[in-house]
Amino acid sequence: MALQFYNTLARKKEEFKPINKGKVGIYACGPTVYNYAHIGNFRAYIFNDLLRRFLIWKGYQVNFVMNITDVDDKTIRDSRAQEKSLKEFTDFYTEEFFKDMQTLNILKADIHPRATDHIKEIQEIISKLKKNKHTYEKDGNIYFAINSMPDYGLLANLNWEELKENAQGRLESDEYEKDDARDFALWKAYSEDDGDVYWQGDCCTKGRPGWHIECSAMSTKYLGQPFDIHCGGVDLIFPHHTNEIAQSEGANKKKLANYWLHNEHLLVDGKKMSKSLGNFYTLRDLLDKGLKPFAIRYELLATHYRQQLNFTIEGVKAADQAIQRLQDFILRLKKADGHDYNVEQLVEVTRKNFESALEDDLNISNALAVLFDFVKQVNVELEAGSISKDNSKFLLDFLASLDCVLGIMTFEDDKIPKHIEQLVRQREQTRKSKDFKEADKIRDQVKEEGYVIEDGADGPVIKKI
Ligand SMILES: [Zn+2]
Repeated sequence: MALQFYNTLARKKEEFKPINKGKVGIYACGPTVYNYAHIGNFRAYIFNDLLRRFLIWKGYQVNFVMNITDVDDKTIRDSRAQEKSLKEFTDFYTEEFFKDMQTLNILKADIHPRATDHIKEIQEIISKLKKNKHTYEKDGNIYFAINSMPDYGLLANLNWEELKENAQGRLESDEYEKDDARDFALWKAYSEDDGDVYWQGDCCTKGRPGWHIECSAMSTKYLGQPFDIHCGGVDLIFPHHTNEIAQSEGANKKKLANYWLHNEHLLVDGKKMSKSLGNFYTLRDLLDKGLKPFAIRYELLATHYRQQLNFTIEGVKAADQAIQRLQDFILRLKKADGHDYNVEQLVEVTRKNFESALEDDLNISNALAVLFDFVKQVNVELEAGSISKDNSKFLLDFLASLDCVLGIMTFEDDKIPKHIEQLVRQREQTRKSKDFKEADKIRDQVKEEGYVIEDGADGPVIKKI
C-alpha cells in the first residue's frame, strides 16, 4: 500500500507525495509558553512525534519544525503580573516544556524557532501583504482584509455566512476597530498593557505581531513555500490555520503546505478538560499521582489521531500493564537460551503488517495489534524453549526498530527510568525552596523504587540499589 494521509484540505485520504524525493518538511504549531503544557497539548505533540518517527523509519529525511509562541496577549499579561521580563518568563516555561517533552520521550524538533526572534521576517510578510493590497490600517493596527482573498476559508470549508457567525463569538476578545468582524490583526498597536514589549519597523508603527502571522513567518523561513505537511489540533483549523494560509499565500502567491493533518480533541473522563470541572491535567499532575511517563505516552499514542481520545486514569493504568507486558517480554528474550528456530519469516510478516498499518493514515491501533500478536507468537516459542541466543538478538534488534516508531520500550537494564529522573528533578525543586521534609519524602519514594540519590557538588547522582 502506498503511504497515505487524511488531508483536511481535500477532506479525504490522499497518497503522500513529497515535494523533494526522499525528503519531508513538517511544521507543527507549538506551545504558547505562559504556563505548563496540559495533556491535550501533549496528545497533539505525540501525534506529531509518531508521524515524524514513522517517516524517518521509512527512510525519509525529515526536517521537523515546531515553533514556540513567546509573545501574545497571555504571555504579556502573565509576565507582567509576575513582574518578570517577557524573556525571563517565557524562557522558564520553554525549558519546562522541553523537560516534559523529554519525559514523554517526544523527540526534540530539528528547529524550535521562537516568535520574538523572527520579528524581521514577520514584518517582511506584512510589507508584502501591504504591497499586494491585502491590508488596511486603523490607529496603528494592521488588519488582513478577508474580502481581498476569494479563497479564504477553504481549509475550514466555511461559507461566508458560517464564517460570520463563527467570527462573532470567537473574535470578540480580540476586537479592535475593524472594517469587518472577520478581519484579523497582523500587527497590534502598542497599548499601556504591553509594558516594555514592542517593536517597530518600516511597515509597522510601535506594536507587536498578531499570533497567526508568527507561524506564517517561521514555517516559510525554515521549510520554504510550499512545504509538505502542516499539523496541529482540529481547534486550530479556524481561525489560526485558515489565517496562516491567507497570510502566506497572500504575501508569496504560492500554496503554503500540501498536506494538512489535524488531530482530534482529548476528553478527560468523557468531558472537555477544564479547571472548573477538576479534570485538567498537566504532565506533572499525572506524575504526582504516581503514573509512569511511558504509560502516559502509550495512552496518548494508542488512539488514532483523528478520533477523540477519552483520557482516564484507569486507561493509563491499563496502558502501564501493556508496557509491562512488553518489558517482561524483553526480559524473557534476553534470557532465552533454547535451540535455534526460524524466526525470519515471522519478523518479515510482522514488519510488513506494522508498516502497512501505519501507512494507512497512521493506523496505530492496527500497528499495536500487530506488535502484540508478534509478542504472543514469540512467547509461545519461548515457552517451548525454541528461541536461541542468536534468535533472541535478532528479535530484540527487530523490536528495537519498531520502537524507533513507538518510543515506548526500554532496552537497557541499567537505564534510570524517566519517572525516577522526574522525581529527582522535583526533589531538587523542593530543596531549592527549602522544603526539606518534602525532599526527604521524595528521596524515600525513590528508594522504594530501588534507587538512591547521592547529592554531589554537581547536583544529584541517581544509582540503582
Ligand atoms: Zn501555528
